[in-house]
Amino acid sequence: MDENLINVDNLKVYFPIRRGIFLQTVGYIKAIDDINIKINKNENISVVGESGSGKTTLGKSIVGLIKPTSGKILYSFNGKTFDMSKQLPIDVRQSIQMIFQDPFSSLNPRLKIIDTLKEPLEIRGSFRSKKEIADYLGELLEKVGLKREYLYRYPHEFSGGQRQRISIVRAISMKSKIIVLDEPTSSLDVSVQSQVLNLLQDIKKEYDLTYIFITHNISVAKYMGQKIIVMYLGKIVEINDADKLIDKPFHPYTQLLLSTVVEIKSEHVEKEIKIGEPPSPVNIPSGCRFRTRCPFAMEICAKKEPPLREYEGSLVACHLYSNEKKEVSVNNS
Ligand code: SF4
Repeated sequence: MDENLINVDNLKVYFPIRRGIFLQTVGYIKAIDDINIKINKNENISVVGESGSGKTTLGKSIVGLIKPTSGKILYSFNGKTFDMSKQLPIDVRQSIQMIFQDPFSSLNPRLKIIDTLKEPLEIRGSFRSKKEIADYLGELLEKVGLKREYLYRYPHEFSGGQRQRISIVRAISMKSKIIVLDEPTSSLDVSVQSQVLNLLQDIKKEYDLTYIFITHNISVAKYMGQKIIVMYLGKIVEINDADKLIDKPFHPYTQLLLSTVVEIKSEHVEKEIKIGEPPSPVNIPSGCRFRTRCPFAMEICAKKEPPLREYEGSLVACHLYSNEKKEVSVNNS
């Protein structure tokens, strides 16, 4: 049976918009608006969407960097369940790590690499001496293709790809079970991107990790994930196994993302989907949030938010794939 690690239950993350000299709250940015996800051990999940889709907020919420406005993220660790928005024991907190897009910003420029990497290990207290820590970290550096002596250099002495390898060492050094990777290769040269992605695949197998891989690039999402979650303006619009989702995307937004990288064939792609700009997350359209960009929008799309429901093995939030579409078509004819 699949071992469930993470349960995201009815998660909402709203950021207040404050104006005026008294910083009054005049509205909210609904970065995550009521989503549910289950992640099993060793599953590779890719979360894909444009900027403003809420994917980074989701990642930060899962590692506990952002507190939910409502809803919960529950994490199963060694037979116990923890609420990620609460104070956690150090071994639980360290077992979920995040790797960021810009590796430079996550390394202290004033500290040698060893000083940055050893700190969480010292807090945890599982090593007997500084030499033991240095040996352990040196071994991990070699695993990611770097030299042991790099421990004694500063972050500015490394290229972007090398710094991202150091971020990977930091995550695995803490015996992580889950790593959230937020666009970890998008700031790297194209030639280095595939090396880092391949390294991440090898590290996952060797350390028995579960990845949540956040990206705007659906090709990278397929390469890194067994399952793909597509997000748009704070909502999940489609979830399916990666191969199936690429072969047969249902949601018009998934089709739009795919059309930027491959020619897609689907029963609903007879109309051209224009890329355009997503609306402001402050003024989210009524009903279906994608309707202002969707060439298939119907009357019901402005009135009713489509729920995420099963359709031919996929989970999809679109009125095209419900009985209501037929009712509307009859009424409109
Ligand atoms: Fe387009 Fe309507 Fe489906 Fe939204 S619900 S994606 S507007 S067809």
